[in-house]
Amino acid sequence: MEEKLVQEIPRKSENLSQWYIEVIRRAELADYAPMKGMMVIRPAGYAIWENIQRLLDKRFKETGHTNAYFPLFIPESFLKKEAEHVEGFAPEVAWVTHGGDEELQERLAVRPTSESIICAMYSKWVHSWRDLPILINQWANVVRWEKVTRPFLRTTEFLWQEGHTVHATYEDAQEEVMRILYIYKEFIETELAIKIYAGRKSDKEKFAGALATYTVEALMPDGKALQAGTSHNLGQNFAKAFDIRFEDKDQKLKYAWQTSWGVSTRLVGATIMVHGDDDGLVIPPRVAPYQIVIVPIFKMKDKETVLPVAEKIKERLKENYRVVYDPREEYTPGWKFAEWEMRGVPLRIEIGPRDIKENSVVIVRRDTREKIKVSMDELEEKTAYFLDEIQKELFRRSEKFTEENTRKTEDYEEFKHIIEEKRGFVIAPWCGSQECEMKVKEDTKATIRLIPLEEGDVEGKKCMVCGKPARHLVYFARSY
Ligand SMILES: [Zn+2]
Repeated sequence: MEEKLVQEIPRKSENLSQWYIEVIRRAELADYAPMKGMMVIRPAGYAIWENIQRLLDKRFKETGHTNAYFPLFIPESFLKKEAEHVEGFAPEVAWVTHGGDEELQERLAVRPTSESIICAMYSKWVHSWRDLPILINQWANVVRWEKVTRPFLRTTEFLWQEGHTVHATYEDAQEEVMRILYIYKEFIETELAIKIYAGRKSDKEKFAGALATYTVEALMPDGKALQAGTSHNLGQNFAKAFDIRFEDKDQKLKYAWQTSWGVSTRLVGATIMVHGDDDGLVIPPRVAPYQIVIVPIFKMKDKETVLPVAEKIKERLKENYRVVYDPREEYTPGWKFAEWEMRGVPLRIEIGPRDIKENSVVIVRRDTREKIKVSMDELEEKTAYFLDEIQKELFRRSEKFTEENTRKTEDYEEFKHIIEEKRGFVIAPWCGSQECEMKVKEDTKATIRLIPLEEGDVEGKKCMVCGKPARHLVYFARSY
């Protein structure tokens, strides 16, 4: 039974994309909806998202942000106000043309992102320097008509948060952009246990309508980068398009400075991919739907002895942890172990007649498979300790893998070889021209993932493509 269950999932090391699809289906995280490119997030998947929401929302609130909600529909004329913005999103917008039987006088876009509708409201709300800053976040769904989709990583409709802030000066806006970038990095590393590189996007890769885009990037096990979140300095582009002006302290009328930033259900996809193994999911304890599974081990004659003790353990732990208790008699313990391992529960507690005699339990770690005998008197203490250790160990692995797969070269032939054979991030000197950036993409499918925040020394270095003096040392990679 145990063998059969495990065999249903392809090996992660051999076929990552097949493993990814299959583990999502088997662990009941999501399912395909009848409409192409759309998914249903099932309870086990949604619970991970709820934990992400809760932990991230706390950070937003601590830094002065509040939540609000704006409409799903955006009039076409609003979307067209900022030229670059509409050009960037037009190919993937879904349109509403009818209300009931009646054709609308103006089409409504289903929001691909909410800058335009929110800016239209901000132009009504902002009058004076006293109204600033506005620090609003929205938890919402957005729709982008994607051609190629993959559960959680790229779907036509997805869930996200989008922050939209207004400031009196460029400096205030830039400070906000960086504050959020560091929140994203710290959040993903601490709670999702995924190593992050943070930096700025090249002009070619930046958000449509932004002055500058900052990004957090993670490395997936197949050596492809995943953009995990972005924070944009919108400058005054949207303020000018939507007429967001305020009277400053010097009584002059000025255009406001804005930012926007977001992370999405993509983070669930990244968490699955980075930590899982051949036996299924491995979910970091901080965001796991269940942190602990308790499996009583008994034959019928021991049932009355074992179950009450197992239940007592459940009562003790459920005060502080998300616990699932599995006393089902129709499955063998071995089957249950494989099932909960596949679902990625970080800690398993086994309790049988012999353990009861010894006043102990057996704790099994999902990440290392280590079995540890723990005295019942130390149950809470050891549980806390091992959950913390698992969280740390998962981050250590992600960090090690990412660092081992971040290479440097100044030679274009070597660069091409690394991207083709080893993948990962490659740090290389670049002159700053879009021609060289495009050539790298055409030759290797790799793009500039980020320009580091702390620039390395480029003195004397030459662009690996054209040989002209380098302006930046940038991180290239193929990406999702
Ligand atoms: Zn160049």
